Amino acid sequence: MTYEFKPRWFDRDVEEFNETVERFLDTEMVPNDEQARIDGHVGHDIWRQAGALGLLCTDIPTEYGGAGADYRYEAVLHEAMGRKGLTGMSPSVHSIIAHYFLNHGTEDQKSKYLPRLANGSLVGAIAMTEPNAGSDLKGIKTKASFDGEHYVLNGSKTFITNGYLAELILVFSKVDSDSAKDQFSIFILETSNQPGFSVGKRLKKLDSKPKIPLSSFSITSDSHLTRCWAERLAKGYIS
Ligand SMILES: Cc1cc2nc3c(=O)[nH]c(=O)nc-3n(C[C@H](O)[C@H](O)[C@H](O)COP(=O)(O)OP(=O)(O)OC[C@H]3O[C@@H](n4cnc5c(N)ncnc54)[C@H](O)[C@@H]3O)c2cc1C
Repeated sequence: MTYEFKPRWFDRDVEEFNETVERFLDTEMVPNDEQARIDGHVGHDIWRQAGALGLLCTDIPTEYGGAGADYRYEAVLHEAMGRKGLTGMSPSVHSIIAHYFLNHGTEDQKSKYLPRLANGSLVGAIAMTEPNAGSDLKGIKTKASFDGEHYVLNGSKTFITNGYLAELILVFSKVDSDSAKDQFSIFILETSNQPGFSVGKRLKKLDSKPKIPLSSFSITSDSHLTRCWAERLAKGYIS
């Protein structure tokens, strides 16, 4: 059973955006949802199309390629996907990554990555959890060492939303450092041209159509990082 209501925070502009979102989901995602459940992801094309239509990173400023709107526009997409019970794509995690860049990145990092997250040419993910470290993040084993020019990451991550398609991953890692303040940090990993990056099996968290669509979710996967080059997100350390 579906339900229809108009939230109080809708105005004319948000309503128009909602119509675009509904049309996109109904024509491009709903017909392919069964396949997305089998594959565990929607494929890159849907991300590129959503980006081209301006559906991603809507609350990121226009100077960085976003729509310069507010969180209502983000909520429209997340809510519509949840209501239709769609899966295999998490624009909300994608948006979280964008906000890490917006709030913590250097100007260069913002200019380099935010426009590509907004236009869907990079699918974003965040990798914190490891096979042996979930709630207690200080137990992670992934390590970043500085080789004099680059940071080199080694480790394994699991349960990564958007992990199967991700082209830009923020990796939470230990840092090889003598400073007590500098034991953990967040690293920017572009997965293309990284021979040491591999994605393992896709994890099936929910493999049948839920009877009551609750919210959108994504199938996630293991990833392995062996001598991957990464850049440190400015102000990205967590003590
Ligand atoms: C749908 C989904 C998407 C996810 N997406 C991502 C993602 O994009 N990126 C990512 O990094 N991770 C992701 N995760 C992983 C998620 O963040 C972890 O599952 C979470 O951190 C918990 O880790 P864990 O499963 O190892 O549980 P554990 O850490 O083993 O915890 C198991 C239980 O013990 C409890 N517990 C743990 N420690 C204590 C304590 N000290 N005291 C009392 N109780 C405790 C916990 O509350 C929990 O109920 C995702 C998980 C799911 C289900």
